[in-house]
Amino acid sequence: MKITRIRTHLLQPGAYSFSGQAVGQRLVIVEVETSEPGLTGLGCATFTQRHRAVAAALEHHLGPFFIGKDPRNTEDLWQSAAANGYWRNGPVLNNALSGIDMALWDIKGKLAGLPCHQLWGGKSRPAAAVYTHCDGRDFHEVADAVRARLSEGFHYLRAQCGDYAGATPAEARRPRGAPPGAYYDDRAKLRTIPALFDHLRAEFGPEVEFLHDVHERLFPTDAIWLAKTLEPHRLFFLEDPLAPEDNEWFANLRAQTATPIAMGELFNHPREITPLVKDRLIDFVRVHVSQIGGITPALKLAHLCDAFGVRFAWHGPLDTSPVGMAACLHLDVALHNFGIQEWATRPEAEYEIFPGLPRVERGYVYPPEKPGLGIDFNPAAAAQWPCDDNNPEWTVARLPDGSFHRP
Ligand SMILES: [Mg+2]
Repeated sequence: MKITRIRTHLLQPGAYSFSGQAVGQRLVIVEVETSEPGLTGLGCATFTQRHRAVAAALEHHLGPFFIGKDPRNTEDLWQSAAANGYWRNGPVLNNALSGIDMALWDIKGKLAGLPCHQLWGGKSRPAAAVYTHCDGRDFHEVADAVRARLSEGFHYLRAQCGDYAGATPAEARRPRGAPPGAYYDDRAKLRTIPALFDHLRAEFGPEVEFLHDVHERLFPTDAIWLAKTLEPHRLFFLEDPLAPEDNEWFANLRAQTATPIAMGELFNHPREITPLVKDRLIDFVRVHVSQIGGITPALKLAHLCDAFGVRFAWHGPLDTSPVGMAACLHLDVALHNFGIQEWATRPEAEYEIFPGLPRVERGYVYPPEKPGLGIDFNPAAAAQWPCDDNNPEWTVARLPDGSFHRP
């Protein structure tokens, strides 16, 4: 059995509004064909801000490396492909590799006649509990969103006010000549977010499980102060309190607060993650599965975390494609140390493009039961949603004086 062809599909289904800017998420889907008639696999290689770089890596470098090889040897193929360029790692190459790796696991499940979770231990639970997002410009809008989601059966809710920023500074506060960007006020965020959770707990009581995403928007000491100040509100977790460049601060954060910490959507390399796991400095690792290279490294990371009492909560925004979400769900139900799954409301267009994409049912998502990842792909429907090349503004985060700040 051989890999005979690798095709890359770029698409941008639906649209949603982020900071007032209408954007759709650009998805990169990989289709691997084999010498067995009808036996193909699908994978997610989505790096939505650099989609064409991933497509080029697949077309010119990784694709040719895989052609002619046995698709069943997922471990050796991942190891050899990851180092085939000698210089390795990084979001472009890892996502490209993930696209093929997920497709090979999809193929393996189809060969076995089993859904992927059965390859990794069967069901530790029937479904994955998910958290979804409640955003608003003020506390009342956030509370309205919380009320609506609770009535749909969600139990875990990520509450944000003013997107990730917490507060947008008035234009008058900017100096003359301030460059364009997504402005936010880190000092105002420190005042706003504790008050937001005072408001939500007063209205909804202690039983709702709230989460909050700092999205690396604070300076380290301020992030520690926020984690301590939110401690009485018993968050399910505080997400990405620090940027990956500030990993050494985690020991300090951990020593000062029992607020559970989730970290890692920007991580690429195991060496960024393993110190935090082995020293038990975080409670949840929440890497983006395609960003670290796909299912093969995600399985290893989840098992490593299990040995240290750390749970996993894979990153699950709209730029994790439906194929990528299926991979997450199979891992979620199979592995013992699952924490929770992030779930963004999917654009309706995706249900036509990706038959088998599940929907939320009372706060849970059930994995597909067909062999493999259990998601199909309709190229004709995908062709209705071509990709643009716009640069997103939200990644150019600026403080009130115009300084760039890493998002
Ligand atoms: Mg996040």
